[in-house]
Amino acid sequence: MAQTIWIHKLANPKKTDADGMDYICEHLFQALTQTGKLTKVEGWNPFQDATAKDGTTYRALFCDSCAKNYNDGHVRMAKEPVLA
Ligand SMILES: [Zn+2]
Repeated sequence: MAQTIWIHKLANPKKTDADGMDYICEHLFQALTQTGKLTKVEGWNPFQDATAKDGTTYRALFCDSCAKNYNDGHVRMAKEPVLA
């Protein structure tokens, strides 16, 4: 069964740090929460059209693990946005 990948919306000032992506995966979000900045430690894989169940696409930055597990339709938006 495909794994759900949770994504978090980036605050505007942080988008520049994410190569212009609008969302980041759970793991990059956790790292960002801990360190206050985005790093490439977890991997750095921009997806221009990460796709949710309803067909909505997101420009999202995934870690290596999420990039490997990604399947169309299995992206979901998390409730907590990134605090700028
Ligand atoms: Zn991830």
